Amino acid sequence: MYWEKEIETMDRANLEKMQAARLGETLARATRSVHYRKVFKAMKLDTDRIRTAADIGMLPLTTKEDLREQWPYGFLACSRDELIRMHSSSGTTGRATVIFHTGGDIAAWTNLLARSMYMTGMRRSDVFQNMMTYGLFTGGLGFHYGAEKIGALVIPAGAGNSKRQIQLMRDFDTSVIHIIPSYALHLSTVFTETGVDPRRDTRLKIAFLGAEPHSEKMRRKIEEFYGFKGFNSYGLSEMNGPGVAFECPEQNGMHIWEDNYIVEIIDPVTLKRLPEGEEGELVMTTLLREGMPIIRYRTKDLTRIIPGPCPCGRTHRRIERITGRTDDMMILKGVNIFPIQIEKKLMEIPGVGTNFLIILDREGYNDQMTVKVEIEREFFGGDLQQLEALRHRIVEELRSDILITPRVDLVEPDSLPKSEGKAVRVVDNRKD
Ligand SMILES: [Zn+2]
Repeated sequence: MYWEKEIETMDRANLEKMQAARLGETLARATRSVHYRKVFKAMKLDTDRIRTAADIGMLPLTTKEDLREQWPYGFLACSRDELIRMHSSSGTTGRATVIFHTGGDIAAWTNLLARSMYMTGMRRSDVFQNMMTYGLFTGGLGFHYGAEKIGALVIPAGAGNSKRQIQLMRDFDTSVIHIIPSYALHLSTVFTETGVDPRRDTRLKIAFLGAEPHSEKMRRKIEEFYGFKGFNSYGLSEMNGPGVAFECPEQNGMHIWEDNYIVEIIDPVTLKRLPEGEEGELVMTTLLREGMPIIRYRTKDLTRIIPGPCPCGRTHRRIERITGRTDDMMILKGVNIFPIQIEKKLMEIPGVGTNFLIILDREGYNDQMTVKVEIEREFFGGDLQQLEALRHRIVEELRSDILITPRVDLVEPDSLPKSEGKAVRVVDNRKD
């Protein structure tokens, strides 16, 4: 059940000793980069004073803006000849960031993916269909390499083309898939339309659900339809990509691999470290990165560390599923709202379909939120009174949670923008 038992179940004292040693090596490497040499010098930081992982608070935080400013080579801590791969963030919010990997970096990353997938029960006898975008995005190649290391048969299907995905699953007995949750929901409607029942007509047993925040209800909905177990995965390109944290068979939080990373949760406003159990921004330090060590990186992802040991026996701490991003937060009439809150509520209401869209408008000085909600097909055959009752219920449920009364429009299944990539959740039409 363990890929590397000794490391996965190492007692905390030894794990922290390992972290301290690796942090020392990381700092030594980081000083070879233009960025950290400059920052450490400006702070007059003596890196020898950092002796344990707990001293990490003395080190500077690193932001996405720092990475952009030093684009492309300012974080590089080795010669360019040692690099074998680059990946880049999508750059949907401004200039993209780029991460370079040495052979050692790719090997360490691949091992983390293999460890993560093995943990969920995937074995060499499995057939793994990777339905993620390949290319600069890390989700495709990261899982691909990890699955090959386990020895599974890999189908590099890539994203989209729903009918072909289903055909591949049936033709080659796919047992494990990697899929974006909103796409899994979209694909379920294609299954239904084509009369294929994944429980009856495929061998699916495990799914890795990654790349976008989703609620527990949504996970259960997906699991129920497909008949597989869905495991949450977490990663970001600055920390390699997928395989940073992953769910074990307990499906209760994601183990974050602390032999590879130091984890902190900070208050995104005061930047103070928060105690275990409190929600805040996840901050991470690479411990094995050779090409581009990154210290105290502000992920902008909001989560918390789940206190206490996990029954699976692994000692690496668990983080809660990501509840939002500091920059996803919508501010409406002075209230902070995350799209995941809306999703959570919607998924609890019977009759609600697989997709929704939040539209923010400004009318005079008044901000207005409209939520377009896809509903299940059978409701559209029903009478108007029933539709109105459902609409009213959605308004009430959302209002009780976000304290703002949204407009709610019910729309037909599959009428909102399709999510072959990540779901579009918010359209903000407000102009300052
Ligand atoms: Zn566990």
